[in-house]
Amino acid sequence: MFDCLIYNMKEQMALFVIENNGKTVLIDTGTSSEVDNLLNYLQKIGIDHLDYIFTTHVHVDHIGGVKRLSTQFPEAKIVVSEFYQKPPETKFPKEKSDLAEYHEYLVQNLKNRVIYVAEGDIISLDDLKLEIYTAPGHTPEHIAILDRKNMNLFPGDSIGGHHLGSGFSRPTAYPPHFNYESYSKTVKKLSQIDNIKSISLAHFGVATGPEVQEVFKISEDVFKAYKDTVVESYQKNNGDLNSIITALLDKFGRSPNEIKHDRPDSLIFRTLGGISIGFINSLGLESKFKVDSE
Ligand SMILES: [Zn+2]
Repeated sequence: MFDCLIYNMKEQMALFVIENNGKTVLIDTGTSSEVDNLLNYLQKIGIDHLDYIFTTHVHVDHIGGVKRLSTQFPEAKIVVSEFYQKPPETKFPKEKSDLAEYHEYLVQNLKNRVIYVAEGDIISLDDLKLEIYTAPGHTPEHIAILDRKNMNLFPGDSIGGHHLGSGFSRPTAYPPHFNYESYSKTVKKLSQIDNIKSISLAHFGVATGPEVQEVFKISEDVFKAYKDTVVESYQKNNGDLNSIITALLDKFGRSPNEIKHDRPDSLIFRTLGGISIGFINSLGLESKFKVDSE
């Protein structure tokens, strides 16, 4: 596990490197700004090539470094969901979305290096098998990866953001792609995989032993608690976004990181506003808000 110090903050974004009998994998990339930190880290641990770069989903903290890293490691194959094989216009009509942009980049620049994967596909690092699970909800094309040798799951953002150090969790429920129903199914599906020994969380830390099932439980409970608060406040305040955000802040508070870095209220409101809209849209409540991509 490598803390890429995203936006110069500790314990916010973990990237994972697997090495097995000389074969190497990177899971997620950070944004392009953290690539230098990553390259220093890889050098320090003696990794001079990457066989595969997995991107779990389209968000910039998970794929933003792909351009630089694919240049730095020309041998690396880029592993993404088969979702991207469909022409973007069939999936994302009209709107110019981040998914469409990423798709365009893969097709135009990395064409011969992309491996499209589906549920049950295996990428082998010698005797270490990485199995793909589709994990929609946070975004529609999200994949989770299971290291079958160590029974370690890499869920990306598909089961929420849980900061194991502080114990703070917040739903990864951002518009325009969040779908609550798919999310719940994904959590259920992944939690039913037999014998998971650890979960390597992008945001943030590695859960082991009894923590594994606790993480799945929190993944369900925290989303439900936020959803209930959003719905209750939406109905009580006739859909007023500021009231919904205030209700979330009153009930769940700021994250330890927001407190430590003295993050301005405007940024916290923006985050909670995104989450509110994510739930409102996904639940089919009448949306009164303009949606922008997070
Ligand atoms: Zn994400």
